[in-house]
Amino acid sequence: MKLGIVGLPNVGKSTLFNAITQAGAESANYPFCTIEPNVGVVAVPDDRLEKLAELYESKKLVPTAIEFYDIAGLVKGASKGEGLGNKFLSHIREVEAIVHVVRCFEDSNVVHVDGDVNPIRDIETINLELIFSDMEMLERRLAKSQKAAKSDKALAAEVDLIKTVLDTLESGKSARTLDLSDDEKAVVKSFNLLSSKPIIYVANVSEEEVADDAKDNPYVKQVREFAQTEDAEVVVVSAKIEEEISQFDKEEKIEFLKDMGLDKSGLDKLIQASYKLLGLISFLTAGPMESRAWTIKDGTKAPQAGGKIHSDIERGFIRAETISFDDLVVHGGNMASAKEKGLVRSEGKEYVMKDGDVVLFRFNV
Ligand code: GDP
Repeated sequence: MKLGIVGLPNVGKSTLFNAITQAGAESANYPFCTIEPNVGVVAVPDDRLEKLAELYESKKLVPTAIEFYDIAGLVKGASKGEGLGNKFLSHIREVEAIVHVVRCFEDSNVVHVDGDVNPIRDIETINLELIFSDMEMLERRLAKSQKAAKSDKALAAEVDLIKTVLDTLESGKSARTLDLSDDEKAVVKSFNLLSSKPIIYVANVSEEEVADDAKDNPYVKQVREFAQTEDAEVVVVSAKIEEEISQFDKEEKIEFLKDMGLDKSGLDKLIQASYKLLGLISFLTAGPMESRAWTIKDGTKAPQAGGKIHSDIERGFIRAETISFDDLVVHGGNMASAKEKGLVRSEGKEYVMKDGDVVLFRFNV
C-alpha cells in the first residue's frame, strides 16, 4: 500500500516524513518495498501479533507495512509545469491514496508561503492543481472519445460521463465529490484521476494543542467541515511530537504519550485512517518460525489472500484452515483443542477473509 504525502511548503511534511522514516520498519522484512530516499516504510501496529508470537514462541514477528512517499514540492502552478510540477503530479498518479498535510499551527518563526495560516485556502490551492491536471487530461480524452464515438455508438455514454466529470472539475470540485453509479465509478477509476484518489487531511497542530484532537483549534474545525464535503478523513497530529517520539523505544513512547494525554501516536492514527480509507484488513499467520500480519482488501477470497504470501499458494490452493484470533487465544494457541470445539474451519476457494483470521493454507505445489 502506497500513500503520497503532499502539502504546501512549510506545513510540516518533512517533519512528519522524518518521523515516518525514523520509526521505520526493519527493511530486511520488506524486500518487496522499494527503499528510496523519498519512501518511508512503517510497520502497521497490531497487538494481536505479539500475542501470537508469545503463544507460538515465534522466533520472528513481522508486522505488515505501508509505504509513504514524500511528494514535496507541489506548489501553485504545478499543473502548468512550474517548478518540477509535472514530475510531482506523476508521482501522485502512482499512489493509492493522498495524505494532505495542512498547517493548523501558528508560529511567527515559520513563514507561510501565502502570508498567513489558512488551511482551506491551502487545501484548495493543492486540490486545484490536481483538478487542473485532471481537466487537461480529460479534455484530450474527450476529444478522442468524441471522434471515436462517431463510428462506435457504444462510446456515447463515455463521452457523457467525461463531460459530467469535467463540469464538476470546472466548478473547482475534486472528482471524488461526484455522486456516481458503480458502473460509472469503474469507468472514472480507469481514468486514474488525481482528484479522485482517496484522501486523508492531516491537520498539523502545535504540541500544546494536540491532546483531545485539538478540539478548540478553529483551523481544525474548518478542515473537518471541508473534509466532510468530500467524505474524507481528518487526522490531527503534531508533526513535531511525532518526530520526537519516533526516536523512542516502545516503553518510552507509551510513557510519553500518556504524559501528553494521548492514547495513540499521530502516526498510528494515520495508519489506522489509511486502512479504513482504503478498505483494508489484516489476516495473520503464526508458527515457531514467525508470526506475521498480511494486508488485503476487505472482500478478498482465501486463494488470493494466500497469493499475498506466495503465488504457489494461490495457484495450488486446496483450502484454508482458519480460526479467528479471539478463538485461538481462548484456547491458548492450542489448535487441537480449538478443533475439538469446532472452531477451526476448513474454508474453500469462495471463502471471504475476515480481519484477524489466523490461517494455515493447504496447497499443491
Ligand atoms: P515542509 O516544507 O512542509 O516539509 O515543512 P517542514 O517539515 O520542513 O516544517 C517547516 C518548519 O515548520 C520547520 O521549521 C518545522 O520545525 C516547523 N514545524 C513543523 N511542524 C510544526 C508544528 O507543529 N509547530 C511549530 N511551531 N512548528 C512546526
